[in-house]
Amino acid sequence: MKEITCPYAADCGQTFTANELSKRDREFLRYASDKKMTFMFIYCPKCARRIQFDATLWKASASEGFNNSARSPKKQKTPKQLLSRLKKLKIDIPIAYLDYLLSDKFRDRISIFKDKSDFCLYSLEELCEIINIDGVKYYRIRELKGYANALKGLSWSDKNFALSELAECLSIGYENEKVLFIDNSDNSALYIFHIDGGDIEKTDIMLKDIYDCNQRSLKNAKPPR
Ligand SMILES: [Zn+2]
Repeated sequence: MKEITCPYAADCGQTFTANELSKRDREFLRYASDKKMTFMFIYCPKCARRIQFDATLWKASASEGFNNSARSPKKQKTPKQLLSRLKKLKIDIPIAYLDYLLSDKFRDRISIFKDKSDFCLYSLEELCEIINIDGVKYYRIRELKGYANALKGLSWSDKNFALSELAECLSIGYENEKVLFIDNSDNSALYIFHIDGGDIEKTDIMLKDIYDCNQRSLKNAKPPR
């Protein structure tokens, strides 16, 4: 396979071959080039940062803010400042979940699928972090807007969501390249967006299960019906 050049030229920019990628990335890259995927993520084996990759053009571009690995210490914003920022942007986290996020009961791990890795839930600060998708900056909580924009013009469809609807959904957590988000049509059902490929998967868990069940493990709980 051809070489790939890390797009973070300022402090990495090294060239590597597919063989240097992790096993997962290597297999995924092979799959992606077979399927002619134009949008995927791999990790630079030199600097470990996430790279957006077009397997048809064999082109890597930056998918993270530049200072991701060497973030300058910024003054922490207080929850009050973060909330007023969200309010200004008309981003409404469902109030009961927000209460949970800010409470000392908040746990950042949750089991979504039995026998699979737990998901991590973002703290309020993490939800307000700025991330870069396709060269555009977004608040983490609005990352689906970025992914939806990146999918525009591609032959993407889903039985539950139009791209414009997906763009409005709020992200609350992640596991690997999977984004856990709230269906904004009912502010309750939880879905997974797969960054690799753009598939959407429904979960058996509702938003309220996160804060109702935070004391016991959802692994042993019956999925709500
Ligand atoms: Zn690199």
